[in-house]
Amino acid sequence: MNRPFNFSAGPAAIPEEVLQQAAAEMLDWHGCGMGVMEMSHRGKEFISIYETAEADVRELLAIPAHFKILFMQGGGIAENAIVPMNLSRAGVVDFVVTGSWSQKSFKEAAKYAQPHLAASGKDSGFTRPVAPKDWQLSSNPAYVHICSNETIDGVEFHELPDLRALGCDAPLVIDFSSHVASRPVDWSRVGLAFGGAQKNIGPAGLTIVVVREDLLGHALPITPSAFDFKTVADNHSMFNTPPTWGIYMAGLTFQWLKRQREGELTGIAAMEQRNIAKAQRFYDYVDGSQLYVNAIDPAWRSRMNIPFQLRDASRNEAFLAGAKAAGLLQLKGHKSVGGMRASLYNAMPMAGVQALIAFMPQGLGGNLYPEL
Ligand code: PMP
Repeated sequence: MNRPFNFSAGPAAIPEEVLQQAAAEMLDWHGCGMGVMEMSHRGKEFISIYETAEADVRELLAIPAHFKILFMQGGGIAENAIVPMNLSRAGVVDFVVTGSWSQKSFKEAAKYAQPHLAASGKDSGFTRPVAPKDWQLSSNPAYVHICSNETIDGVEFHELPDLRALGCDAPLVIDFSSHVASRPVDWSRVGLAFGGAQKNIGPAGLTIVVVREDLLGHALPITPSAFDFKTVADNHSMFNTPPTWGIYMAGLTFQWLKRQREGELTGIAAMEQRNIAKAQRFYDYVDGSQLYVNAIDPAWRSRMNIPFQLRDASRNEAFLAGAKAAGLLQLKGHKSVGGMRASLYNAMPMAGVQALIAFMPQGLGGNLYPEL
């Protein structure tokens, strides 16, 4: 079946092999007579799905043994509250604001902690973050929060900041919702990472939290038990019923990721190389075009989410309608920045990028731009 290319920022495209396997197993998982949505989370069938998914993500992302992997619910927005409840001890927490999502995190934290704005890229219209060496970190924050890939603004930290090199011993918290599993993570620089699954890992409803063990056990008394990381970790993510379908789908995606190859590279390293190539191809096209523009500083451009504007914004609707007719779906930009956005997550093949680029010069009917 030839499906259209889906550029959604999330919930986003899922690898077709994964969808096919889930469809094949929908009514009867491995001969047990039940579908995954119908089985007890405490039965041996689901426990094996859960344990395999956890082991696979640990292997793929090279997560060290002293980090716990939690499968939770609530998404990134809930983590904006859950993280300060668990880590802040109601004290000072530093935020680096690089776009809409870190801005939201900063705002929410004020309910539970004392957020300090260490840097903001607002002055540049979030086209580039403030460089780490210029961050105004407080003297002893409980942690430092960044959004390592801003889904709306299209800004990505290509290297995670080394807080120790900045003279700060606090743990780094990263919201990696929209580039998780697109590249390796340097865990030596991270205290906690969280992300919703619905971009690069599976369906909405599953949130992955990876947390260094020594950060557990300091939740504020008001923290709901189901959101206390220590309780979740001690109960292997089964203090409450976990999002079983999401964990299963994530598990299938992890197995798909493990099968990926690019030359000598496998798994996440292969994906990273592919993602670099896809994004480069698209940015090269946009930069060379007279019709489109991407305003982000090239050093900070996201590989996953690429906002682009038509120089003539009155053509936006025509562009989207033409794209849809050409089998290129969900390219509308976020309402806060307008224009278009192409999300090139792991499930987007290079063929999708090529199809989009092939559409773009004549996508507005060609004759609308007679100079080309
Ligand atoms: N953080 C980032 C970077 C995101 O892209 C999103 C969702 N687009 C969120 C947080 C919020 O996730 P959710 O809607 O699942 O709570």
